Amino acid sequence: MTKSIQNWAGNVQFKPENYLLPEHPDEIATYIRRAAETGKKIRTVGSAHSFSPLIETQDWLLSLDRYQGLSAVSKASRTATAKAGTKLYTLGELLFREGLAMENLGDIDRQSLAGALTTGTHGSGTGFGILATQVEELSLIDGLGNPHTCSRTQAPELFRAALVSMGLLGVITELKLRLEPAYRLHYVHRKGSLDETLGNLEDYKHNNRNFEFYWFPHTKSVQLKLVNRTDDSPRHNGTLRWINDVLIENAAFGALSCYARRFPSQAMGISRLCGNLISDGERVDWSHRVFATTRLVPFVEMEYNIPTENFVGAFRDMETAINKHQFAVHFPVECRWAKADDLLLSPANGRDSAYIAVHMYKGMPWKPYFETLEAIFKAHGGRPHWGKMNTCTTENFQKMYPDWPQFLAIREKMDPNRIFMNSYFGQLIG
Ligand SMILES: Cc1cc2nc3c(=O)[nH]c(=O)nc-3n(C[C@H](O)[C@H](O)[C@H](O)COP(=O)(O)OP(=O)(O)OC[C@H]3O[C@@H](n4cnc5c(N)ncnc54)[C@H](O)[C@@H]3O)c2cc1C
Repeated sequence: MTKSIQNWAGNVQFKPENYLLPEHPDEIATYIRRAAETGKKIRTVGSAHSFSPLIETQDWLLSLDRYQGLSAVSKASRTATAKAGTKLYTLGELLFREGLAMENLGDIDRQSLAGALTTGTHGSGTGFGILATQVEELSLIDGLGNPHTCSRTQAPELFRAALVSMGLLGVITELKLRLEPAYRLHYVHRKGSLDETLGNLEDYKHNNRNFEFYWFPHTKSVQLKLVNRTDDSPRHNGTLRWINDVLIENAAFGALSCYARRFPSQAMGISRLCGNLISDGERVDWSHRVFATTRLVPFVEMEYNIPTENFVGAFRDMETAINKHQFAVHFPVECRWAKADDLLLSPANGRDSAYIAVHMYKGMPWKPYFETLEAIFKAHGGRPHWGKMNTCTTENFQKMYPDWPQFLAIREKMDPNRIFMNSYFGQLIG
């Protein structure tokens, strides 16, 4: 079967020669061996939500959409093993039925589990690493069709490499997750001022379980998101919330975005209007339902991880540049935090981190905006999110990641025939 593929944002489009939907790891191994015999390449796709061309291939695209669900659960040890293709929205509900939950999540749940983890996807909270740090054990099939299982104690070097590996070391089949008993969160969002937020950042970061904020360019307004554990019962009006948060917010912002695209000179005014209209609200719900938001307005995105101590400097430089260049942008800038880890290619490797994500409405010119800010983020020690737009070269990555050579050495063993290569990675790592 072959079909045209495009990613969520529509900026990556291609037609693979073959679209493979295995239902079992043995089938995956067979496809890999067949690709090796016939000189074909294989890329694996999750939910195609990455903005960078990670999944692009003219050869074979392999999806684990038919390999979803839980294969084992241990309430006693608070772990569960999930099939790698499981969508996060399915996983959240399956775990919930078992009385379990992931400790942290990003702000949508449309991704596949492996796709999210292996690009270094993260949520926010100084007490939590990127999502991949919740994995206890990982199984994958290498470029020769051989299975491997690794953990902190079994093949630990492979484990530290494979968790953030963008499909370069093999096809991940199973992930054993460290979990928490299901818990509820109190989510508060409110309007704040940029200067007050930056001035009291340490308090916000450390006095909330999960803290992040959105800044509207060309304004001094931010939306604060403060999330904390609670024993209260779920408190929200589901239908009303859907109408407010999903329908009205997305529809109104979508309409304003269409207007900004048609009349780019109005984008700054629209950002100011949105900054003025930030509303206050709160609700209580089970954790996986609180983390996930609905994103219906299409955009492209660049996100950089910055050492946490450089955050305010990077932010202020970004604000100055946006004001100086008067970029036509109305999408808010999202700021989040994560704890340091030791995964070879994790953007948070070796440092407590802040993340700054910039967005541009689909169809509006993003290049000058992203390129100007990218130079600032790099100057502050930034590393790009693997799943988001960036212009980094091999030389950049070599400097950013002390463990780059180690990752390449592991790749050599796991994929000696370069089965998992595409043109994007061909340019980066050959
Ligand atoms: C609207 C939106 C919101 C987002 N929110 C966040 C956020 O809050 N935080 C954040 O950090 N990121 C966020 N992202 C980015 C997103 O989480 C990542 O790009 C993620 O990788 C997408 O998951 P996916 O399942 O779509 O993977 P894909 O984009 O399909 O693939 C990503 C990578 O994973 C590899 N892969 C997929 N499955 C496997 C497998 N089984 N074995 C080996 N490799 C595999 C692919 O080959 C590819 O290299 C967001 C993206 C969008 C579009």
